[in-house]
Parts: sequence; structure tokens; C-alpha cells
Amino acid sequence: MMLANGTVLGFMHGDLPASLRPASRSWQSGTLLVACGCALFAIQPLVPLAVSVTVSNGLILLGLTAYCRSLYAFYERKPGVWLPLPAVLGTLGVFWFSAIQPNTEIRIIIISPAWLVLMGNSALILKRGAGRDDAMSRRMLFAIFASVFLFTIVRLLHYLSLGMATNFSIADDASRMNLATPMLAAILPVIGTTAFVLMCSERIRRQWERAASTDYLTGLPNRRTLTAAGTERFKAARAQDESFAIAVVDIDSFKAINDRHGHDVGDIALKHVGARLKSATRGVDLVARTGGEEFVVLFDRVEPDQVEAAAERLRAAVRAHPFAAGTVKISITVSVGVAICRGEDADFNALLRRADEALYAAKSAGRNQVKLAA
Ligand code: GH3
Ligand code: MG
Ligand code: MG
Repeated sequence: MMLANGTVLGFMHGDLPASLRPASRSWQSGTLLVACGCALFAIQPLVPLAVSVTVSNGLILLGLTAYCRSLYAFYERKPGVWLPLPAVLGTLGVFWFSAIQPNTEIRIIIISPAWLVLMGNSALILKRGAGRDDAMSRRMLFAIFASVFLFTIVRLLHYLSLGMATNFSIADDASRMNLATPMLAAILPVIGTTAFVLMCSERIRRQWERAASTDYLTGLPNRRTLTAAGTERFKAARAQDESFAIAVVDIDSFKAINDRHGHDVGDIALKHVGARLKSATRGVDLVARTGGEEFVVLFDRVEPDQVEAAAERLRAAVRAHPFAAGTVKISITVSVGVAICRGEDADFNALLRRADEALYAAKSAGRNQVKLAA
């Protein structure tokens, strides 16, 4: 099952975006390594004990290391230099206490902490991932790592309580623990792989959602997000009889900036203006780039007599900070059209149209000013 799972993941690899491939490759290696380690346990009687125990434990430890590495890659974090240490020390220890000084109990005492460090670290990486997403698949994978972690502790305590002889074999069909171990060992590569693939698909969904709702250049919400948010706030303002206003902001003579300094400088100017507008609004207000050199601000719950002052703050915030392109400083101004939601506005688009008309009036009156819609 584990081998099949690792192989299937290998075939699907190409379907993933480049950003997820390092994580998926490591996860696949982890699954194949754990599978090979378990397969070697299965043929233990055919191989000298020191060889089979050392190699299979080494493969499983490397597999757990690869899982850890995969999760670091998934969350774009760098693993510490210590990461290979549990696998290296664990394997050396198993070699010593199987080939040189055979002792089953000490082998278990050496292997268990190495497993615990690697699985505990994987669980921690997933726990920290909560800051980036609250995906169910991430929580499931966390639960899987945590369960196998707890099982490893129980298993260690169980074997310690037996008072084993140095040549004690844990590969005994009568032992319940020996029955449970391979079942739990298979949970990570089999069910864990499903959770990992779902984590990848959830990540891709989020990336597409973000790409579809934000403007690539400025990172601000785009027209689509504005229309959805505006329509919602329009309805809420109506239902709760709250005040709601919008400002349409257009950069003055932007074509001249492009013509004089080039399109690239124009692009940076757009980002600069977006940041200035954001700095002049409250957290609840929404600043969107709706096209070319035009922005729209939604003022949430603002008193009608303060709307003009809020729009004036937008204009002043852009005017007060000339934009530096290399050594040259370029003064940018904006014209602003403001509209306060009224009873006769049929929908959000009607409000937007009135703000647009006010913007047109501000342009006609000489630019760099705020006009309130009638
Ligand atoms: P006005 O004061 O009347 O608004 O004049 P304006 O020059 O700002 O307006 P106009 O509509 O004539 O020109 C807008 C310019 O914005 C033309 C277009 O090339 C430029 N533009 C639109 N989108 C982008 C963009 O993404 N990057 C850059 N650099 N320029 C853009
Ligand atoms: Mg313009
Ligand atoms: Mg324009």
C-alpha cells in the first residue's frame, strides 16, 4: 500500500505547480523510504539480523526526515542543519547494538527518541502553519503525526516494562504490540499522503482565489472584489439604516508621467499611490484598484458630514508625498469624486455612477480636488 501510494504520488507530481513540487518530491521520497524499510522488516528472517535491522531502521528514519523536509518546503521554511542528525545517530546506534553488542532493549531506546524528534517536529511545523491557513487537511495531518507520536511513547513504555533479554525478538506474532506497530506505521504513508495531497490542492485553491480577487500590480483588491464587497455593504447599510459612502480616485495627467518617465516608472507610481491611499484610510475601509490609474475607496460606517473630510485626506495623502523614481521626484495629484449612499440609489452601481460624475466635475474644475456628488 505504501509503495503504491508513493508511486501514485510520483505520477501526479507533474500536475502540481512548481512552487509545491519540492514539498511533494520530499513527501514521495519519505513514503517510498518508509515502504522499503517496512518491506525489509518483512524479509528479516532471510537476511542477517544486524544488516536487516540497521538498514530497515535507517530507511524508516530517513523517510521520517523526508516528511519533515517536505513540510518545511510546503511552508517555505528552511530546515535547521540538525535535521539529518536523528536519522544518522539512530542508524549508527542500531548498527552498534545489533552487530557489535546486540541488545534489543537499547535499540528500542535509541530508535524511539529519534522517531519522536522527527515526528514531533513535523507536528510543530503543521501547528505553526495555522498562521497561514486553517485547512482541515492540515489539521488532519497534524492529528496523524500527533497520534503516531503518542503511540511511539506507549510502545516504548510497553517494551521497557517487559524487562527484555538482550536477544529478545520483537518480531513475535503473539505480541499485540508487534501487530499494532505495522498498522500504525502505515498510517503516515497511506492516510498521511492523502491528507498531504489535499493540503496541496487547498493551497492551489487559495492561490487561484487570491489571483482572481486582487490586482497583480498593487496587491489591492480588484474590481471584482470591489463589486462584491460594495454590493454587500450597500445591502447591509440599507438593512441597518447605516451611512455608507464611496470615493472614486483618479490620478491626474498620468499619461504624462508614463510618456515622460516610461511605463515602468508609471507602474511604480501606481503602487505608490495605492500605498498612500491605504495609509489614509481606516482598517475597515476598502481600497481597490479598479482599472488603469483609477482607485475606489469604500468608507464603512462614516457620518455623512465627515465623508468630504475623509476624501480630502485621500487627496492630501497623495499630494503630500512626491514619488521618488531614482533621483527624480515626481509630484502626483489625484482628483476625487465622492458619493454618499441615498434612498434613491437603486444599487451599488448607481452609487458608483454618481461618484464617477463627481470625479468628472473635479477634473473639469481643474484637477487635484474633491467633489461631492449632488
Ligand atoms: P486625467 O487627469 O484626465 O485623468 O488624465 P490621465 O492622463 O491620467 O488619463 P488618461 O485616461 O488619458 O490616461 C491614463 C493612462 O494610464 C493611459 C494608460 O497608458 C495608463 N495606464 C493604464 N494602466 C496602466 C498600468 O498598469 N501601468 C502604467 N504604467 N500605465 C497605465
Ligand atoms: Mg487620470
Ligand atoms: Mg482614468
